[in-house]
Amino acid sequence: MTQNMSAVRLTELTGLTGGTRSVNRCKTQGTPFVDARPASLAARRAVVSLDATKSLSKPGHVLNFTHINTSNVSRTQRNRTPFTPKALDAAQPFDFEAKQRQKVEKGKKLKIGIVGFGNFGQFLSKRFIKNGHDVIATSRSDYGHIAESLNVGYFRDPDDFCEMHPDVVIFCTSILSTEATINAFPMQRLRRNTLVADVLSVKQFPKQLFLQRMPDNFDILCLHPMFGPDSGKGSWKDLPLVYDKVRVGEEKTRRERVDRLLSVFADEGCRMVEMSCEEHDIQAASSQFITHTVGRMLGTMELTETTINTKGYESLLSLVNNTYNDSFDLYYGLFMYNKNATAELSRLELAFSQVKAELFDRLHTLIRDDIFDENVSQATGLLSGNGKEIVDSQNGSDSASASDRTFKDRLIDQVNSGGSLGGSMDKEEEGTPSR
Ligand code: NAP
Repeated sequence: MTQNMSAVRLTELTGLTGGTRSVNRCKTQGTPFVDARPASLAARRAVVSLDATKSLSKPGHVLNFTHINTSNVSRTQRNRTPFTPKALDAAQPFDFEAKQRQKVEKGKKLKIGIVGFGNFGQFLSKRFIKNGHDVIATSRSDYGHIAESLNVGYFRDPDDFCEMHPDVVIFCTSILSTEATINAFPMQRLRRNTLVADVLSVKQFPKQLFLQRMPDNFDILCLHPMFGPDSGKGSWKDLPLVYDKVRVGEEKTRRERVDRLLSVFADEGCRMVEMSCEEHDIQAASSQFITHTVGRMLGTMELTETTINTKGYESLLSLVNNTYNDSFDLYYGLFMYNKNATAELSRLELAFSQVKAELFDRLHTLIRDDIFDENVSQATGLLSGNGKEIVDSQNGSDSASASDRTFKDRLIDQVNSGGSLGGSMDKEEEGTPSR
């Protein structure tokens, strides 16, 4: 201990704050003392003035740097403390702008970990990279070559993946395999405040899984980009991104991290829809599940291009294109893991039966009518739909064409009249055609 420093009994010191780092303890003759030797670089030679040590001798007093006599600090020592303006456009002693910019950019950059590097995982990774983020991935299969071509770090072993400490981990696994993947995932190797997210096309299920299986200190964000590698091949403008901030810590950095991830979608032009996972599943059952079901039905029908495609038909082809290429696992997951899907499927089935019944009802009535008309026409001759008499020849072929025309004309009549077939037909069946 230097001589010009006063010793103060440590037991009398309480509530030391701020400058306490410059106070070192030492022990002299069994009594604990404070050595007021300053420790900071700038004030290495500063000593605590007598005033300061006096104040320290009273219990509850705090060593304050305003009491430090820095007169002994040499000019050169003072000049060693660097002053670096932080603002990007501030005048800099040298051109620090590039470095500063790099620092700011680095602050914005996320290290995003993708679990499940299939169709959708790769699709998302490309956009994350395009938006300046680092991406690493892991998956059941070996995607090393594809990952390399996309500039994605690939780890077959999930332990190695977690040890890279991504800021965000996004589960892009199939709906059906997500639970098993999460159960086997070594999340204890991740950082304690990692943000976990998912992009499953159903939302209540992963939300529950996350809440049950993820450590309490993980943030949870449920996402559903309502588009895929086909529908989102080009621009993402106006494509919906549904999100639910299920659990995000209060700290600014945590909230900013979520915003930074969401900003990828916002910057790409997505329509950002904040919605609870429960509400998502209700709405998605009647929109997305029905879309996929119809697309899959039409795909199974193997619709092909024609030379006379109408706009409507083009839409159907594009629907098939956007849905039929997705894995059946995905479609099955939409059904199995959304409790609202069964009701929607029943509604669709019922609607189809109704439409079909209406169609066949009309057709049967017409055929029945035609049978009766044919009998009448053979006996009495026929009037066509436009009132002209149809020549009832003895010739068999003429007779057949008369019968054809009758059917056609009656069909035209029905369409023109726009009325229901049932009532008028009953009358006609009685042998009094209304034409
Ligand atoms: P998918 O068939 O639903 O999922 C394929 C991914 O799941 C692959 O990464 C695959 O890993 C992984 N996987 C499948 N079975 C597995 C198992 N038993 N164990 C471990 N991993 C398994 O097809 P996807 O289109 O890529 O969809 C991925 C996720 O994104 C799904 O949850 C889907 O709902 C969601 N999503 C898809 C779209 C879309 O349009 N495609 C849109 C929005 C959201 P390996 O390849 O390594 O086998």
